[in-house]
Amino acid sequence: MPTARTNFYDLTRAQLLALAPQWGFPAVHAARLWAYVYLSGAEDWAAMPELPARFRARAGAELFFGRLAVAVEQKSSDGFTHKYLLELADRRQIETVLMRYTGRVTACISSQAGCAMGCVFCATGQMGFVRHLTPGEIVAQAMHVDAVLRGTESGAALARPHGRSPHERHERLRNIVLMGMGEPLHNYEAVMTAIDILRDATGLALGAKKITLSTVGVIPGIVRLADEARPVNLAVSLHGATQEERAALVPVAKKWPLDELMAACRYYIGKQGRRIFYEWTLIEGKNDSPANAHAVGRLLRGQLAQVNLIPLNPTAGYGGAPTGREAARHFQQILAEYGLPSTVRQRRGIDIAAGCGQLATGR
Ligand code: SF4
Repeated sequence: MPTARTNFYDLTRAQLLALAPQWGFPAVHAARLWAYVYLSGAEDWAAMPELPARFRARAGAELFFGRLAVAVEQKSSDGFTHKYLLELADRRQIETVLMRYTGRVTACISSQAGCAMGCVFCATGQMGFVRHLTPGEIVAQAMHVDAVLRGTESGAALARPHGRSPHERHERLRNIVLMGMGEPLHNYEAVMTAIDILRDATGLALGAKKITLSTVGVIPGIVRLADEARPVNLAVSLHGATQEERAALVPVAKKWPLDELMAACRYYIGKQGRRIFYEWTLIEGKNDSPANAHAVGRLLRGQLAQVNLIPLNPTAGYGGAPTGREAARHFQQILAEYGLPSTVRQRRGIDIAAGCGQLATGR
């Protein structure tokens, strides 16, 4: 009986290299295959001429490229944001966003189809949990964005395993935020394997400071990240500075209360020596008053922290309104009194529902 083929994008480089000898080939062929895929964007066995035909035949019998089909592509009116509704092998769907702001190219990718965390203002939370993504499904989103940037979305291979020539000019994917659909620390193993693949120095080679993982406050995951010294930026969604206010917006706060979350964050900072980015969705009349800002200041004072303020983006299931520019600026000024740096996120891609908290699919 034929065995099921493995998704190439599920494999770390070490795993791929270990397969070649099992198939009766030297590992160097697998290394070259890895370079074809991650440096040149190749997905077509016929267009990997530096690999022996027998190796290609065996690899093709064992592996497949789990490309994600584009069901819908939308572009924002300002042209800076592209959103892709991507279809998984089981017809489930996820969304991935390509952003071109302030000279940087960033992919916002999903870690789950749907989400179990139920944040009230989030469209993904409103749709509920569908399933975890595999490492390959996470990596394939990055590869899709990389292909868009190369202009090779068709998967047509470039016939070099060593990447682009000096004469080629195209943007490269340099930043990834795991802030799409899903809670990354609820799918820890798959997300970390995907990060290992994305960071591999002989592949996409995304730098340690170029991958940001956003959690709603899954404490066991934060502690594990700290203990494993994972080289990623950590963003923690706060939204409320008291247990009661936070739990009203973020239901999982009942499971992982604010004081325990703060202890986990301090543990992370102490172990990693890295700052935490705290996300605060600014909702008019809900959590955007000067008193709220002082409460955030008191909570985070003395921490190696930055606060990212995100004026609420509209979703069908939540009626709140975003905080205005002036009130947001005042919020920032108060945070500064406590020595807390902050940013106000630009509202981009809202017209195609590609902003923070807006990603959702029908299945
Ligand atoms: S904000 Fe993040 S954690 Fe909360 S429901 Fe949405 S996707 Fe899930």
